[in-house]
Amino acid sequence: MQIQPGIVRAFRWLDSDNVSDDPRLSASGPVRTEYDRWIPFLFLHLGCFGVIFTGTSWFAVTTCLVLYCIRMFAITGFYHRYFSHRSFKASRIAQAFFAILGLTAMQRGPLWWAAHHRAHHKEADRDNDPHSPVVRGFLWSHLGWLTATKNMPTDYTKVPDFLKYPELRFLNRFDWVIPLLLFIGLYGLGQYLQATMPQFQTNGLQLIVWGFFISTTILFHATCSINSFAHMFGYRRFDIPDDSRNNPILALVTFGEGWHNNHHRYSNSVRQGFVWWELDITYLILLCMSKIGLIYDLQPVPDAVMRKVALKERES
Ligand SMILES: [Zn+2]
Ligand SMILES: [Zn+2]
Repeated sequence: MQIQPGIVRAFRWLDSDNVSDDPRLSASGPVRTEYDRWIPFLFLHLGCFGVIFTGTSWFAVTTCLVLYCIRMFAITGFYHRYFSHRSFKASRIAQAFFAILGLTAMQRGPLWWAAHHRAHHKEADRDNDPHSPVVRGFLWSHLGWLTATKNMPTDYTKVPDFLKYPELRFLNRFDWVIPLLLFIGLYGLGQYLQATMPQFQTNGLQLIVWGFFISTTILFHATCSINSFAHMFGYRRFDIPDDSRNNPILALVTFGEGWHNNHHRYSNSVRQGFVWWELDITYLILLCMSKIGLIYDLQPVPDAVMRKVALKERES
């Protein structure tokens, strides 16, 4: 077997399922960083410096914040709590809609994300955990694991429940299309506003820098911090075999994902904050969505557990 030359391999990135003849892609492939895989991350981070040339405007900063919030919810509510854990049910249209929103975050496809996350829960902080800071250190858990060729393909055997949806498989396979559309859309919106509403003091390049590069980079690190920091810093309510922690700061920036020790204990529950002060924004939004019938069958934490946790909190 021969490894493809760099340029050919780069083109192969455009089709996530085209993984047949690179031995490094196998399950037994080497667990190491591959430097050409750093290119997309360098591109994302270097793009943020474009702000030096484009400047800023309240409209661009608002776009950055709004896109952060919408996409964070798509990742936490759907990539994580729906596609990875099936902690509630949603219609086929809703799952496709939020898969598309999640794709704009540039965190690969929903099935790739869910397959790796299921592997994480199954092997948390053991040798086969794709991103444990305990096993391979902080940098690996935060970013390095994304640059290992062996972690590139989607292990479809881990997400058999979604294989019957061709639209999800298509979106997962060509995971660069939706981010590209966001990129183009932001440029188009900025140029349109510059021409028709100059009082907004924005333009296409400025919206790309704030809405695409800066917003996506912050979102990326916030999400990755659950893989790294949330297995290192925080308190442990449940004494379970992995090193997961509850971390209030991470919970705030990730809309509830920082209650990670709770989550590792009851990963099928839609809820991750277990007491009143453990703010879980994603859960609150999902609860509202269920009230108006957009989603249903939310999986609870067992009542007995919630009572025990509340009692313990009152005593401490
Ligand atoms: Zn974890
Ligand atoms: Zn999880």
